[in-house]
Amino acid sequence: MAKLLKAIPAVKGMMAELKSRSEILAQRGITPTLGILRVGEREDDLSYERGAVKRCEQAGVQVRKTVLPQDVKQETVLREIENFNRNKEIHGILIFRPLPSQIDDSAVCKALSPEKDVDGITAQSMAGIFSGTHVGFPPCTPEGCLELLRHYDIPLQGKNAVVLGRSLVVGKPLSMLLLEENATVTICHSRTEGLAEVCRKADILIAAVGKREMVTKEFLSPGQVVVDVGIHVKEDGSLCGDVDFEAAKELAEAVSPVPGGAGTMTAAILAKHTIEAAERLG
Ligand code: NAP
Repeated sequence: MAKLLKAIPAVKGMMAELKSRSEILAQRGITPTLGILRVGEREDDLSYERGAVKRCEQAGVQVRKTVLPQDVKQETVLREIENFNRNKEIHGILIFRPLPSQIDDSAVCKALSPEKDVDGITAQSMAGIFSGTHVGFPPCTPEGCLELLRHYDIPLQGKNAVVLGRSLVVGKPLSMLLLEENATVTICHSRTEGLAEVCRKADILIAAVGKREMVTKEFLSPGQVVVDVGIHVKEDGSLCGDVDFEAAKELAEAVSPVPGGAGTMTAAILAKHTIEAAERLG
């Protein structure tokens, strides 16, 4: 029976530390503040927003929301980003993506001020991860996965880490962060041949594939540590991930649950990045 890599024990410690950092900022007259820009009412955005607001409250971070209709014009989105950029009381900005098809995603990423890019979507933040210079912030989910592994003292150095998925939001930046920890990293995607076999050989398997419970027992082997990044809503309204949780529980050494794993860490990292941005901009 696998050990469960639950996020809450890690998040509790983080929140206490973040709260004291925001109190120090408050003494300097600074209230760390996150600006959230959401277009539409997608259920997964709303669910992440609830988690983010909760963690921000616990960490002493204020949240200001701008919500735009699904059919909003690109110029309105860019104008709202510019308002957040210019507002000195806002230190971090989270933009929910994917945006509706009438909005050019690259224009949005370019419009965002890199110093306030607490979810690592600008080219400058990406360059920071890929060059190892840590300018800006990595996206919250990859850093959350790393933080979860660190909290449970999972050794990474020299280990065979397989990342299933190569998106700019999760797979690619996470691979770079694992590489920096001296893991030997394999990145898999939809054209990978012998995918199940490659995954079975992993010491650490991270699933960020966006396919409900795709990682079945054929992908798993005893002794593995499995981090499930996927989030899917089942017909009965409950959540599941990219991994067949029951199979992983039976076979692996450790597995992160959905909910209560990578997603919970992601929201906590967002609060952390906002406080860091406030400290840097302060
Ligand atoms: P994405 O942009 O759709 O990328 C999915 C990746 O998986 C792609 O690289 C794709 O390969 C690969 N893939 C898809 N089907 C595959 C298959 N059958 N075999 C092998 N590889 C396959 O997704 P994402 O944004 O990275 O998100 C991944 C999952 O994480 C989703 O479930 C999402 O909801 C979840 N997520 C969770 C959080 C959180 O806070 N926990 C944050 C972000 C995302 P190609 O590149 O070849 O197409």
